Amino acid sequence: MYQLTDFDSPDAQGSGERYMDRNHVAMLNRAGKAAGFYPKINSGYRTPAHNAKVGGAESSCHMEGKASDLSVRTRSDFDRIAPALVAVGFRRFGVASTFLHVDNCSRSEAVWTYGGGAEIDYRNKRIRELLGQQWYLADMLGEEERGDRPWLRVILLVLFAAMLYYYFFVLKGRF
Ligand SMILES: [Zn+2]
Repeated sequence: MYQLTDFDSPDAQGSGERYMDRNHVAMLNRAGKAAGFYPKINSGYRTPAHNAKVGGAESSCHMEGKASDLSVRTRSDFDRIAPALVAVGFRRFGVASTFLHVDNCSRSEAVWTYGGGAEIDYRNKRIRELLGQQWYLADMLGEEERGDRPWLRVILLVLFAAMLYYYFFVLKGRF
C-alpha cells in the first residue's frame, strides 16, 4: 500500500503529504490491491522547480498532485497493472517502455507515448483496448470494492420492511 511519502517531490520532504490529491492516492491503492502489487512511484508530486529540472510539461499534472509515474519495467507487470488502473478509473495514460504515467487531472481522456518501439506500441494499443472495455473492467474490483453503495442497502431494507408490514397488517387483516 502506498504512503503519502512515496509521492514526495525529491526536493521537498513532506510535499506528498501536503500536496498529493487523496483521491489519486486512493485510486492507486485500489489498483495495486487488485493487481496484487504496487509499482514503485518514480515521480509523484513535483514542485515547479523539480518539474522544470526533469523537463516536465509546463502545466504538468504532477504539480497539482494528481499524477504519478509508475515503474513498470516488464511486460508481465504491465499486463497486471494496466487493467487495474483502468478499472479504478484512470483515463489518462502516458506510455513509456519502462514506466506508466497516470493522472486524474480534470482534462479529457487521453493516451500518449514517450518515444517509440515495439514495447511502446504494444502498451499503447493495450491501454486503448482497455479503455474501450472500461465498464466491463469495473467487475475485476470484486464485491468488496463495488459494495460502496450504502443507499442501495437502505432502499432494500425499506422495501423489505414495507413487504412485511403489508403482509402482517394488510393481508392478515382480511382473514
Ligand atoms: Zn508523469
